[in-house]
Amino acid sequence: MTAWRLRCTVCGTEWVLKVSYNISDFRRIYHYCKVCKKNTYHEIIERVEDIN
Ligand SMILES: [Zn+2]
Repeated sequence: MTAWRLRCTVCGTEWVLKVSYNISDFRRIYHYCKVCKKNTYHEIIERVEDIN
């Protein structure tokens, strides 16, 4: 597992997404935002850690 710090481009909230695949090739990702309560575009800020 890899963790990525994302930022919602609508509300600016930063949170960590854990996925089993590499998303570093994406400039932004469309994902559900708990604050906006809908799917929004997110910027990928950085890779946080590797979780095995
Ligand atoms: Zn949001």
